[in-house]
Amino acid sequence: MSKPVHRIAVLPGDGIGPEVMNEALRVLKSVSCKFEIDFDFNEQLVGGAAIDELGSPLPEVTLNACRESDAILFGSVGGPKWESLPPDQQPERGALLPLRKHFSLFANLRPSVCFPSLVHASPVRADIVKGGFNVLCVRELTGGIYFGEPKEIRNDEKGRHAVDTMRYHESEIERIAHVAFRSAMERSKKLTSIDKANVLRNGILWRETVEAVSGDYPEVSLDHLYVDNAAMQLIRRPRDFDVILAPNLFGDILSDEMAMIAGSLGMLASSSLGIDKGDGLYFGMYEPSGGSAPDIAGEGIANPCAQILSASLMLRYSLGHSEAADAIDNAVRAAIDEGIRTADIYTSEQGTQRVGTKEMGDAIVEEIRKESSN
Ligand code: NAD
Repeated sequence: MSKPVHRIAVLPGDGIGPEVMNEALRVLKSVSCKFEIDFDFNEQLVGGAAIDELGSPLPEVTLNACRESDAILFGSVGGPKWESLPPDQQPERGALLPLRKHFSLFANLRPSVCFPSLVHASPVRADIVKGGFNVLCVRELTGGIYFGEPKEIRNDEKGRHAVDTMRYHESEIERIAHVAFRSAMERSKKLTSIDKANVLRNGILWRETVEAVSGDYPEVSLDHLYVDNAAMQLIRRPRDFDVILAPNLFGDILSDEMAMIAGSLGMLASSSLGIDKGDGLYFGMYEPSGGSAPDIAGEGIANPCAQILSASLMLRYSLGHSEAADAIDNAVRAAIDEGIRTADIYTSEQGTQRVGTKEMGDAIVEEIRKESSN
């Protein structure tokens, strides 16, 4: 039987996007040899670059490429050049949000990884993060208080007042819970669900539904935390957590808290998953957690690790190649452990070497090559 060809829409975008995307593509090509994976990359413009060339942040040709693909590998969009455009025509609002909406990307997964050799970059006390940590934040992305109606500012006899509505259907909680439980099954089988069941009706339904879904995953140990307590515990003992599952609002805040604790934005990948394609795989969009970093764009010094680790998430969640994903994760870790550092994670420690974007990519490709020959 012939091997499937994985069609990938590659959207480098603006700023450092094209620079770090280059390295991610080189890394994907190197695992394609080792694991015999066939990719068909369809590169298209998005964001400011697409506005300049084609007059829209998400041109039809780009959207079509995404529709015809198994996954989207996204760089980052935006920059000062396009900030004065009307909000809906700006790169982020005009490209990212429509993509999320079009493909119903309901699950946001952000691994917050603090590598043992980068604990100095964390603002948290060394004895707390010693040895590093690896927490996966699973955030519901298309429901809850960000989208519930009514949502408006009104006038009544007491003056202006604002209304936002937090609404979750059981089915929305179930599908995100399945993503979190499946992720936990691939990791250390430990899941912490976050809610505010002591105050919100949404929290009660969230907790009951997650408990019910847990019946399908008897091997996963499940516990629940109120969000205020979770915000404290994640700082106090991040190493005790593995997968956390949260509604949209709480996940937004906690995943940024975790990114901060991990210390280096240039290392953090993210994925937004949509429809379940069957056999546990999803259509998804994969991108670094950071933005287009206009302050360093074009200098060849951006850290490509977040983009490379996003490609690894794509292999894991959309393409079903966990071994190749593991190989990339291990190669990034090995390069860091060997002291290779881009400027954002460099300190003049003994045994470390400051390198540019391409050299970081070279080091990771070389680690994959070394693993292949072992
Ligand atoms: P940013 O994440 O681009 O940059 C914040 C800081 O982190 C900067 O100092 C930057 O140099 C640094 N940084 C980020 N990624 C890095 C990397 N890979 N290597 C080394 N350093 C890195 O956030 P910002 O400055 O608030 O936003 C810049 C632009 O990016 C804005 O136009 C914003 O709208 C856009 N943005 C896009 C996305 C996206 O495309 N998903 C996300 C966030 C921001």
